[in-house]
Amino acid sequence: MSQSFDVVVIGGGPAGYVCAIRAAQNGLKAACVDNWENRDGKHAFGGTCLNAGCIPSKALLESSEMYHKATHEFATHGIKVGKPEMDIAAMQSRKTKIVTSLTGGIAALFKANGVTGISGTARLLKNGKVEVTDFDDPKKKDVIEGKHIVLAAGSEPVELKIASFDGKTTVDSWGALDFDKVPKRLGVIGGGVIGLELGSVWHRLGAEVTILEAMENFLFMADQQIAQTAAREFKKQGLDIRLGAKVTGTEKGKAGIKVNYDDKKGSQSIEVDKLIVAVGRRPATASLLENGSGVKLDQRGFIQVDDECHTGVKNIWAIGDCVRGPMLAHKGSEEGVMVADLIAGKIAEMNYDVIPSIIYTWPEIAWVGKTEEELKKQNVKYKAGSFPFAANGRAKAMEAASGMVKMLSHADTDEILGVHIVGPMASEMIAEAVVAMEFRASAEDIQRTIHAHPTLSESMHEASLSVDKRAIHAINK
Ligand code: NAD
Repeated sequence: MSQSFDVVVIGGGPAGYVCAIRAAQNGLKAACVDNWENRDGKHAFGGTCLNAGCIPSKALLESSEMYHKATHEFATHGIKVGKPEMDIAAMQSRKTKIVTSLTGGIAALFKANGVTGISGTARLLKNGKVEVTDFDDPKKKDVIEGKHIVLAAGSEPVELKIASFDGKTTVDSWGALDFDKVPKRLGVIGGGVIGLELGSVWHRLGAEVTILEAMENFLFMADQQIAQTAAREFKKQGLDIRLGAKVTGTEKGKAGIKVNYDDKKGSQSIEVDKLIVAVGRRPATASLLENGSGVKLDQRGFIQVDDECHTGVKNIWAIGDCVRGPMLAHKGSEEGVMVADLIAGKIAEMNYDVIPSIIYTWPEIAWVGKTEEELKKQNVKYKAGSFPFAANGRAKAMEAASGMVKMLSHADTDEILGVHIVGPMASEMIAEAVVAMEFRASAEDIQRTIHAHPTLSESMHEASLSVDKRAIHAINK
């Protein structure tokens, strides 16, 4: 017999599973249908983020940073060890353990909250019901009903015709997390978030990494002062980032894969042993909707929604990577919470202006709010302050005194408009700026807030003082 629920969520990634849990917390009968298939052919909740994205990549970033420290930094601290060796199999099994414990955790959270987790592929039918194809037996189909349906189908890597994935030499971001040995020569198409993070992992473990980026501006979406500082650091580390490099094709090389590209100088090529294609992701909506469901897709396949994530079809909502806005787990989760609360009749909204962005390289890059370039373009009068980690005691003690915190505030009201960090633990430090901006704090509010000494966060304090040319531990320009 067909089951019915108050809320059926399609997709069990950070947007969908969070939405289902919050719906259940709100006293609604919730189900979450998900079809993620892991390498072992088994289903797991958590979507790309937990299974093949944020979590496994951070596990490898951590391992590779440790190896890098043992190889290059221990001696500076006076620690003598023999030549460190990397056991890639052990690194990969640690990663898998972390992933398994977190994905298993979602199943446990569903149980504790009374969410019905269903393994299978869901499709929204034109009658507003949901068809579910069983994960283990694709011949078995069922139809379930929800008073509300939330579409949270996520996204998938964009594939290039000129460099199609073969799972062995040319891989997507998931494949790049699974290498069983360090490639000697690694090519990356796309110098965005994924290209930089995965390029960094394998570079630290010893690969010669070349990143080919089509745009002339490095990290065009980031504040350019921060992007340039990061670019210098990456160059020092030996990452070969080639800008304005448009890949035109790939072919079998002498002993690997030849990647052809055009840049200002003309036609160029590199030869690599492995190639990661990281040129963006697209919404996974191709087979989500039966014709006539009424839910509209835009030209790029994103589900069209309003500010409250409503699709325009009664009681059908969409959240996360399959709708407009940045493809970030935390953005999807917050949309999930908002929608579950709206369904329960509560007041809820998303502040799309204050979503933090983070790139987990070393140094890390993190920002929230407007860049200096955006403020100039919008003719907003602003004040800018910055503080270098080179003048921060804790960063020096950590052997990580590079980069800066930069703060932008409104010239008249002093409201903080953007905070940009490149440096150690930027991913953690940005949270202070996010909270401040959520409460519409001024730079002066941060100036008057006591920051513990010695901490990295003193750099945030000093950057806020620098906005009014009153930084204590730096020359104010
Ligand atoms: P991206 O959009 O961040 O970067 C893709 C890059 O590829 C762009 O700079 C683009 O100019 C370049 N490019 C496109 N076609 C090219 C070509 N033919 N030749 C050379 N360069 C080309 O995409 P991504 O890095 O694949 O990440 C996908 C999504 O996942 C993003 O939305 C990202 O925000 C998200 N993500 C976030 C995190 C994080 O928050 N830390 C980590 C991983 C992924």
